[in-house]
Amino acid sequence: MRYVSTRGQAAPVGFVDAVLGGLAPDGGLYVPETWPLFSAQEIAGFAKLSYAEVAAKVLGAFAGDEIVHEDLLAMCREAYATFTHKTVVPLVQLTPQAFMAELFHGPSLAFKDVAMQILARLYDHILGAQDRRLTILCATSGDTGGAAVEAFRGRKTIKVVALFPEGRISEVQRRFMTTAAEDNVACVAVKGSFDDCQAIVKQAFQDQTLRQAVDLSGVNSINFARIAAQAVYYFTTAVALGAPARTVNFCVPSGNFGDAFAGYVARRMGLPIGQIVVATNANDILARALETGRYARGVVQPTISPAMDIQSASNFERLYFEAVEREPVETARAFTAFAEAGSIEIPPQALAEMRQVFQGVAIGEDETARTIVATLNETGQLIDPHTAVAVGALRHVALEGPVVVLSTAHAAKFPEDVARISGAQPALPRGVASLGDRPERFDRLPAEADTIKAYVRAFAEGRRS
Ligand SMILES: *Cc1c(COP(=O)(O)O)cnc(C)c1O
Repeated sequence: MRYVSTRGQAAPVGFVDAVLGGLAPDGGLYVPETWPLFSAQEIAGFAKLSYAEVAAKVLGAFAGDEIVHEDLLAMCREAYATFTHKTVVPLVQLTPQAFMAELFHGPSLAFKDVAMQILARLYDHILGAQDRRLTILCATSGDTGGAAVEAFRGRKTIKVVALFPEGRISEVQRRFMTTAAEDNVACVAVKGSFDDCQAIVKQAFQDQTLRQAVDLSGVNSINFARIAAQAVYYFTTAVALGAPARTVNFCVPSGNFGDAFAGYVARRMGLPIGQIVVATNANDILARALETGRYARGVVQPTISPAMDIQSASNFERLYFEAVEREPVETARAFTAFAEAGSIEIPPQALAEMRQVFQGVAIGEDETARTIVATLNETGQLIDPHTAVAVGALRHVALEGPVVVLSTAHAAKFPEDVARISGAQPALPRGVASLGDRPERFDRLPAEADTIKAYVRAFAEGRRS
């Protein structure tokens, strides 16, 4: 399987290089040259497989012959054994037609673990074979950093630098990063927003001097392996609800659009998905884009669902590329213009294409809070604010057939807000109960690309620990 850049100026690469490379050298995102397709019979067969086995099938379709299937299966088994629920991603029923997929039973209590646990094993496998060392640079809106630190800490071939917006993530989110004692991990509180952090990461990746000095890799959702790993739970949950004989809808709390785009990927691979609802908080760039056809950055507003406080959704470029019939020149033009002007018009034909699958709903802070209370009263489930954005969005859409809401974080990851709103105190699961007592370690830096690039270089070269 070959991977092409959405901007068409980078040479196609194989799966391994697409995974390690993160962003393509032309600033675009890698997508597979063609979408692998499962037959209805193959999808029906997933019902008899374990989560790890389905993951190996889905990831195997993207890895092609670059990774031996038995190795991939062993990595998937190990990755999903770190989850505390035996089915990995259990389904909970909310109403006769609405179900919740709990994606938060991994080590850092957020859905980012689902992809990050397998990604770390893929990296180890690939780097071990190549005798190579890498530095992972990631920007986090709260949960990616914790998941990356959990997955990569202590690994000998890899260093991790996690950038997070200072003061804009919860204490529990921060502690999942900053309490790692291993010296292959560096955490940086950046004086700025998540979008600032993400922009700095993009600049670092485009800095050829830095990249010659440091073998740099990215695990943000621009990394296609993450998208592929997230497509897996669309399959397992839809099949549990009767797919492929039945069409299933999804409702996804969205920020960087990686999770929702993974649903699009599953659909292209043959899974009968009806609609995917893109649920956003007040940072509604995606909801507005799908409604008005104008993809325009706003000012980031801090909310109680901080992992979605994003006004520039990286993975939207992948959907745009598909919607303009994979025209790389047009995609490059659009996203260069977006980077410069902060807004673009989606061509009408492309917008119609997107609306075949996606609809957007934005939910404000009050409604998010009311949804947490109502869900607790009506179903007994104590949900986190990100999940609440998606559960709240359900009231604004008319869907045919069952819908799966992706529950992206454990309520105990946001204990102050959840307790204040609901009056119920979410308890941390036993395995991580000591999180609040462990010492923290992180540096503070301004949102300046040059300063942060120098820091990354010093850490990668071992001049700082
Ligand atoms: C990252 C995250 C999201 C948003 O996912 P995207 O793939 O960025 O759209 C939603 N909820 C939680 C808890 C997250 O950590």
